[in-house]
Amino acid sequence: MTGFSYYQPTQIRFGSGRVKEVGTAVSSIGHRCLVVTGSNLPVCSPHLDAVLESLREAGVAATHFSGAVPNPTIESVSRGAALTRREDVDVILGLGGGSSIDTAKAVAVEATHPGTAWDYLYFKQAPTERTPPVIAVPTTSGTGSHVTQVAVLTETATKTKSAIFHVHIYPRLAIVDPDLMSTVPPKVTAATGFDVFAHAFESFIHVAASAYTDLMALEAMRIVGSYLPRAVKDGHDREARQMMALADTLAGLCIANAGVTLPHGIGMAIGGFRPAVMHGEALAAIYPEFTRFTWKCARAKFAAMGRILDRSLDGVEESVAAEGSCSAVDAFLKSIRLATCLEALGVSQAELAPLTASSMVLPDYRNNPRVATSDEILAMLAKSYRGLMQE
Ligand code: NAD
Repeated sequence: MTGFSYYQPTQIRFGSGRVKEVGTAVSSIGHRCLVVTGSNLPVCSPHLDAVLESLREAGVAATHFSGAVPNPTIESVSRGAALTRREDVDVILGLGGGSSIDTAKAVAVEATHPGTAWDYLYFKQAPTERTPPVIAVPTTSGTGSHVTQVAVLTETATKTKSAIFHVHIYPRLAIVDPDLMSTVPPKVTAATGFDVFAHAFESFIHVAASAYTDLMALEAMRIVGSYLPRAVKDGHDREARQMMALADTLAGLCIANAGVTLPHGIGMAIGGFRPAVMHGEALAAIYPEFTRFTWKCARAKFAAMGRILDRSLDGVEESVAAEGSCSAVDAFLKSIRLATCLEALGVSQAELAPLTASSMVLPDYRNNPRVATSDEILAMLAKSYRGLMQE
């Protein structure tokens, strides 16, 4: 076994009903809290009410910022940062999916540093310890952002999606209450749940995978394979929501310590071009071509994944199971009604070349077991244009 390092500074409080602990937890860290949410309040207002009530009972002054947008833009972050400075906030709480939690992290950076959050992307300058503590209360089971050092942002003018990546934006505390996820509609449940699977699998095949992250990745994939179809079918299936919240947390711990590979690089590029496309849908459009491109270079790990999704691959030899994993992923996507293609996501043929270039900006593609050339990525995108929808 090769050696490894593992780091995780976030305190995780996991379990149904634990949202009630928000107030006391925040009051031990700060006294003036910015609560960051999206604008989808008719559905999510009970969750917001629970958080605000808990903060009030604990004597924490709360300011609500409802300006987080899906695929957070730098403009939305700047609005939150201005409010943070005005209200002299000392702790920032992200309540929602990855978009709200990432917005909270980026607001924490921009409010306390010169320039904008975009100036603190992973390849630019590093945020400092002035960054106030962030608390994450996820309401989707998807991004794992509640336990990662990542905030994904979009610069609308250049259609670029990139990320702040720094230890100072790890949430200090994550309160994972699976009851908050019961309101997520089936399509969002499928898309966010497939993101969990992609995090687990890509960290499993990542060049930086370790024995420690592999354990969590395998368990996360097993859970998604068994419980995501149930959560899509019945959002009020409490056991399925609890297990998916656990898988999301495990997969987040994996990406914080190993990382993601080629599909996420392409998925991020698609999100930059088409901000209305859900991150998990973008991944679903390209996974069938990614698996077929890569399986021969990581047979044992593709075989392990295939056997999780398709028990009939249990008794067959490794290469057959590895190749079979490609069809197993296709079938899984169909079972959760997430099979899609680039055309269905609104991508035009003319955008395939710029999307290819954009897919190679982040280092993710270089961490894939088979490193793709730009021609190979273009070919994958061309085949994903109609993808599974042709069948
Ligand atoms: P999201 O936060 O954009 O939410 C998707 C939709 O679901 C929104 O309309 C939202 O209002 C709604 N929603 C959220 N919770 C709900 C609930 N309980 N009930 C009903 N509706 C609810 O989606 P996401 O997939 O969670 O986050 C995607 C973002 O996270 C992308 O920008 C992606 O790039 C980023 N991301 C971040 C990390 C990280 O480590 N920071 C990792 C992967 C992805």
